[in-house]
Amino acid sequence: MKCPICKKEVEDMKYRPFCSKRCADIDLGNWFNEKYKFEATEVDEEDLAELEKMKNGGEEQE
Ligand SMILES: [Zn+2]
Repeated sequence: MKCPICKKEVEDMKYRPFCSKRCADIDLGNWFNEKYKFEATEVDEEDLAELEKMKNGGEEQE
């Protein structure tokens, strides 16, 4: 089994599928970054909707 982070052979099964706590932490950090990116994307979509509203807002405001 190879560590998905550093591609080294995993010797310590304690942290599998990672070779070490360090790599497990790196993966956790990546996961958080992915989550953050995902949330940021959602915010962007809301901003886009808000922009759409502003573009069409003139009609709604009477
Ligand atoms: Zn590793």
